Amino acid sequence: MVARVIPVDDFDLVIFGGTGDLARRKILPGLYRRFWSEQMPPAARIIGAARTDQDSDAWRAFVREAIEEFVSPAKRVPETVEAFLDCLSYVPIDAMGTDGWADLRALMRPEAVQAFYFSVAPSLFGPIAERLKDNAIARDDARIVVEKPFGRDLETAKALNATLATHFDEAQIYRIDHYLGKETVQNLMAVRFANMLFEPLWNAQYIDHVQITVAETVGVGGRGSYYDKSGAMRDMVQNHLMQLLCLTAMEPPAHFEPNAVRDEKLKVIRALDPVEPGDIVRGQYQAGADGASYLDDVEDSASRTESFVAMKLHISNWRWNGTPFYLRTGKRMKSRMSEIVIQFKEPPHNIFTEAVSPRCNILTIRLQPDEGIDLRMTIKEPGPGGMRLVEVPMDMTFAEALGPEVADIPDAYERLIMDVIRGNQTLFMRGDEVEAAWGWTDPIIAGWTRSEHVPLPYEPGTAGPEDALILLYRDGRRWREISA
Ligand code: NAD
Repeated sequence: MVARVIPVDDFDLVIFGGTGDLARRKILPGLYRRFWSEQMPPAARIIGAARTDQDSDAWRAFVREAIEEFVSPAKRVPETVEAFLDCLSYVPIDAMGTDGWADLRALMRPEAVQAFYFSVAPSLFGPIAERLKDNAIARDDARIVVEKPFGRDLETAKALNATLATHFDEAQIYRIDHYLGKETVQNLMAVRFANMLFEPLWNAQYIDHVQITVAETVGVGGRGSYYDKSGAMRDMVQNHLMQLLCLTAMEPPAHFEPNAVRDEKLKVIRALDPVEPGDIVRGQYQAGADGASYLDDVEDSASRTESFVAMKLHISNWRWNGTPFYLRTGKRMKSRMSEIVIQFKEPPHNIFTEAVSPRCNILTIRLQPDEGIDLRMTIKEPGPGGMRLVEVPMDMTFAEALGPEVADIPDAYERLIMDVIRGNQTLFMRGDEVEAAWGWTDPIIAGWTRSEHVPLPYEPGTAGPEDALILLYRDGRRWREISA
């Protein structure tokens, strides 16, 4: 089986921040891979725009290096790389200034899809949006892509939404959360809504609890000064974990259509109960054999910012009343692992008299490593000697189930950029969703600030502070092992 690639329409994509880290590591290698797979039309144009005063050849050299570093050798075909570089040009522009905008306008074609990727600090979103309009560069059907962080609280998110709304309609704004571009995250919707098996059981009557884990092994590293103003709650929970929670818990939308899906996600956020202080654990990593402590990684040696957070949430609606959702995310943890675990309840009555009783079914949606879906079932152990039960996985690791070619999964950024060109907003956050998520997050953070709450220290290479384990133990449950 070979993956089917549907080419997108001809486009002009301008990347503000085209010389930055995100462009180098994700956006440009991703676009190259789409070109390599013949999804990107050869006539399409990618225009870099940034402060660096350089010409197009210099930027092409930068992009060539990015491809060499971040694209697998099998896809680095010399003629294809050259053909891709031919699609590129560069315009030096200071987002706060007046120069360069006329040059950019001259490069834009009237017929091609127009997209502007704001891969710059959020403080530049407003000035760029304004100049794109004032200089008559962006058409009324242009699309803009904005990166996280989208605000640092409800107030700043509202201000940012208002600024963008001055120049662009909501239907033109693509707020990126790359977790939504992950193949398995979309597969969660396919599993739920394209099979009869799960949806009838997808509620508090049959699901004991849900766990969502996003564990990283890295510390804050070079991002210390940014991260320390943010913390795990703002950097991960408000956006990525909240999006995963919404897709897991939402009602079936009437159509797989952007606003239908986003309406349902929004309802989940609005149904979240405020979190009790005793239902949250915050942590900060200590020094380990292979790295410094959080406090050594940031400038403020008395920082109270969390690098780990675990919490128990309740969704107050008909479907989920009584089923807790446990979320956790942290840095310097045991392994890099992201997954959603749906633990079903035990069968109501055990008819088997042997020592081993049936286990709970567990559905695991694995985002990384090895994207895939795994369902744990209890079956009879083969062989004579009575009815012994064993637990077996029904593993749908994509590479094994679909073959390596289909399972050569596009990076989340690749998929999302192609969705922008197609004009499909389903996997992007709407302004009201982002605001609702901040509206839920803000009081929690304000409570920590008010009480001068100090995060618990935890050993690097572990699953976080012990209190996070207790959060589940006290409910008679346990976290899944964090393992690669
Ligand atoms: P970076 O500092 O590496 O690059 C910033 C880019 O913006 C550079 O190209 C720079 O020339 C350009 N720039 C800065 N000031 C400018 C100005 N006045 N006019 C025009 N261009 C200007 O940053 P980055 O890591 O690439 O991140 C870009 C955005 O993406 C940020 O908002 C960041 O929070 C977000 N983001 C980054 C990552 C990542 O992995 N790097 C992940 C998620 C979100």
